[in-house]
Amino acid sequence: MAGRESGGMAAALRCAGRIGILATVAVNLAWIATYIRRRYFGGGNRSDNNGGGGEVEPSRGKPPVTSDSIVNLDHGDPTMYEEFWRGTGDSASIFIPGWQTMSYFSDLGGICWFLEPGFEREVRRLHRLVGNAVVDGYHVLVGTGSTQLFQAVLYALSPASDGTPMNVVSPAPYYSSYPSVTNYLNSALYRWAGDANTFDGDTCIELVCSPNNPDGGLRKPVIKSKSSKPVYDFAYYWPQYTPITEAAAHDIMLFTVSKCTGHAGTRLGTVVCLRGDACRWALVKDTKVAQKMIKFIELNTIGVSKDSQLRAAKIIGAICNGYEPVPSSGKTSQLFHFAKEKMAARWARLRAAVAASDIFTLPYELSGYCSFSNETVTANPPFAWLRYNKDDIEDLEAFLLEKKIITRGGTRFGVDARAVRVSMVDTDQAFNVFINRLATMK
Ligand code: PMP
Repeated sequence: MAGRESGGMAAALRCAGRIGILATVAVNLAWIATYIRRRYFGGGNRSDNNGGGGEVEPSRGKPPVTSDSIVNLDHGDPTMYEEFWRGTGDSASIFIPGWQTMSYFSDLGGICWFLEPGFEREVRRLHRLVGNAVVDGYHVLVGTGSTQLFQAVLYALSPASDGTPMNVVSPAPYYSSYPSVTNYLNSALYRWAGDANTFDGDTCIELVCSPNNPDGGLRKPVIKSKSSKPVYDFAYYWPQYTPITEAAAHDIMLFTVSKCTGHAGTRLGTVVCLRGDACRWALVKDTKVAQKMIKFIELNTIGVSKDSQLRAAKIIGAICNGYEPVPSSGKTSQLFHFAKEKMAARWARLRAAVAASDIFTLPYELSGYCSFSNETVTANPPFAWLRYNKDDIEDLEAFLLEKKIITRGGTRFGVDARAVRVSMVDTDQAFNVFINRLATMK
């Protein structure tokens, strides 16, 4: 290693010599130091980001929206949160030296060997702060994005006791990924069985998404049979979207960093890049189920990015710190307040535009007492479930596409094509263009 470094330095010096830089003194020594730092240690300024050893910048996501461009509100891409995190300085930044997080293992003494203890600590702290889930007496597991944890749950709870594939259901409109993620491997362990409201049987996994994607409804299981296993998808059970009405204490509850903090892009990446993997966690009461889920993640990806877990721990810690009474944490460092205000303002504008249009409808506003904010609050769902209420258009997604607005049509959620789902958590630019276009539709 040392030989390679000094060889590299010699090469750098030869290179510098060739172009005559070593001819003079101090200025050139400084230049060499900078050159070596940039070439061999990844330092240097941002304009050097050309693959030549300079600092690696993250990609920028979707292109910016202008008043006449296509606006893509198909995904719930939570770019709305960027403004908040830009305003928090370094409170959520981390630096990981090259020698750290190298081992596969995180916690050999715990139930989940790939779970970073610091991440687990902050996750538990956050749930205690918000009061949305009971964590005492529960395991906390980590996975890579919803797809992995969701499949880990299916794996752990399948097949049915007679060996046949477990049926997986959810009441329509259901999250559009449930059918595709359940079926894409054509597994003999489980299969998508559609709308829970029309399911003719009693052995199943019921996915209970509350608040629900796409329509924001607050849900309880609809299958009452003893052999149904409800799995709660609490991606949106956070105070910016819905009143926190109880500390949920179900057997299996899925949460995601994506929709809580806005860091959807924190998915598995490379060791040199601080942006890694979207950390999600499941709170699981039954140890055997937890162990099977851990096995799935072990077989699937041999654990979950430590870098991402460390970053997520720092981010979640910053959120919790913003609610500590002591530090001078002004309003800007209180994530849930920022996001709730923003969502409420957007919903007010959307409801006004829809009322003025006379051709669309939205689900009724829900409200309830929120134990987190100690007041009665109105829900601000992460998606607008927009319905066309006249007879001349059958396919609302196609109609909006003509207006250069990309949404997701009702058939993807198990219902008719006169409804679409529209993301409410995108950038201000995208939301403004959407509202302005909607206002012109009569
Ligand atoms: N569950 C639901 C209901 C969702 O809407 C989403 C995001 N679309 C997720 C889980 C998981 O999102 P991610 O994979 O970005 O963590």
